[in-house]
Amino acid sequence: MPDPATPSGADSFDVIVIGGGPAGYPAAIRAAQNKLSVACIDEWKNHDGSAVFGGTCLNAGCIPSKALLESSELYHRAREEFAVHGIKVSGTEMDIAQMQKRKSGILKGMTGGILALFKGAGVTPLLGHGKLLAGRRVEFTAHDGSKRTLSARNVILASGSVPIELRSAPFKAPYIIDSWGALDLPAVPKRLGVIGAGVIGLELGSVWRRLGAEVVVLEALPDFLAIADQQLAQEARRHFKKQGLDIRLGAKVTGAAVAGGAVDVTYTDGKGEQRLTVDRLVVSIGRRPYTQDLFTADSGVQLDERGFIKVDHSCRTGIEGVWGIGDCVRGPMLAHKGKEEGVTVADLIAGRFGEVNYKVIPSVIYTAPEIAWVGLTEEQVKASGREYKTGVFPFLASGRARGMEQTAGFAKVIAARDNDEILGVHIIGPMAGELIAEAVLAMEYSASSEDLQRTIHAHPTLSEALHEAALAADKRAIDSLNR
Ligand code: FAD
Ligand code: NAD
Repeated sequence: MPDPATPSGADSFDVIVIGGGPAGYPAAIRAAQNKLSVACIDEWKNHDGSAVFGGTCLNAGCIPSKALLESSELYHRAREEFAVHGIKVSGTEMDIAQMQKRKSGILKGMTGGILALFKGAGVTPLLGHGKLLAGRRVEFTAHDGSKRTLSARNVILASGSVPIELRSAPFKAPYIIDSWGALDLPAVPKRLGVIGAGVIGLELGSVWRRLGAEVVVLEALPDFLAIADQQLAQEARRHFKKQGLDIRLGAKVTGAAVAGGAVDVTYTDGKGEQRLTVDRLVVSIGRRPYTQDLFTADSGVQLDERGFIKVDHSCRTGIEGVWGIGDCVRGPMLAHKGKEEGVTVADLIAGRFGEVNYKVIPSVIYTAPEIAWVGLTEEQVKASGREYKTGVFPFLASGRARGMEQTAGFAKVIAARDNDEILGVHIIGPMAGELIAEAVLAMEYSASSEDLQRTIHAHPTLSEALHEAALAADKRAIDSLNR
């Protein structure tokens, strides 16, 4: 057996990454940029049997969902909002097959792009299953079943996550489906049930609602979007209600039975037992780390009580040269969080500086209005006991938002009373996911609300809403009444 500390030969690498999703593939590219020899292993297969890199994000998550959100929003706007601009459209129809074809084309282009990036960077792509053995050896099983044992100085585990199944409503395609099934629906269901009013429930519920489905969302918790700032959550709820998303809170699903081509769902809420019949039921109650057959017991890798690979602040597993990144380790299950961990680990391996600032990871929900935040919610700041001030600016007062006819929502800045440090920024409104980047940068540099106040923002832009919200925190907004 070759000594893994001194890799040599075709099957020895400085770094092997197991998992080529948005955590693993950037780790592989950065490691190669750092002049290390790298292989990236991924076993993903799409429904058509194609083996590709990109993981959940590119194949069944971020990218396909954003493609459908865009198509469905354009359809909705053409039907409901163009008239106010004086644009007359008649006979608007949605061609679902074309919508899905466009989506598939985007995924193909982007997953193929990873292979091109690997080629350019000098990463060895290996399509198949990877399993960490003792001593930083990795058993690689290609899709044709052939096996090789590889060795590496460093192994990065980036195996991602999978949807959680609900015992009272187990998956039964094509009726009871997960988010991937909901992305691939070939037709608009007349009645769509969604279990879980989280990020997936709201995004995919919005897609099919805009395309004409009657959508009922059953959420177990009594509060809507409990993870978000509650002022923002209440504003969001109001708009979703207007759009016809029927969100039922405090709903505990007790059963789901497929009968006669439909799904009969039973649940309990504050009023007792309830029934709901839908044509398709999406279960989106969260995701769990995926580590099946990823490592042998003697590899030394350990899982925590929730099934995540145990790692420290720097993604070290505690076993020399073995690291864990992305959805399979603690922290928010977000592509950009995994990417940052990936490049950080690849830099640490190369002896460079690297650190993930977990305090400023932005969250975005790509609904309309869009929702985005970074840092603490007002509820969290209040609970911390720190004195604070808030500034809110409504998009109704933004000239650009008015021109766009997208005036729903607001930008909100929360800053500390003692030193004016920005503690959290919450935006609901047009392009919130783009606008939040400025707040992330500000917080990354520990900016004060005064720093935002003194930064010149182009007029008329949506970004002025953030500027004015920062001014409003000191009751100095120019374009609103500072309430
Ligand atoms: P994954 O993307 O899950 O990739 C892991 C890869 O490892 C997979 O390809 C898997 O096949 C492979 N693998 C696992 N085990 C092995 C093994 N033993 N051998 C070989 N290969 C293996 N996040 C955002 O930030 N923004 C969004 O807009 C967003 N939208 C989403 C929408 C949906 C519908 C879903 C489901 C998720 C969304 N997410 C979004 C979450 C995002 O997709 C995940 O956080 C992200 O994909 C995690 O990246 P990862 O690399 O850790 O894991
Ligand atoms: P989530 O954690 O966002 O939401 C799950 C929701 O289901 C929660 O509101 C929870 O209270 C509810 N729930 C849990 N058990 C339930 C039950 N038995 N009955 C009814 N409701 C129940 O999870 P998700 O929406 O499945 O998304 C999974 C992950 O994917 C998330 O961590 C998210 O970060 C990521 N994601 C991100 C984006 C984005 O960044 N835009 C988009 C989609 C998914």
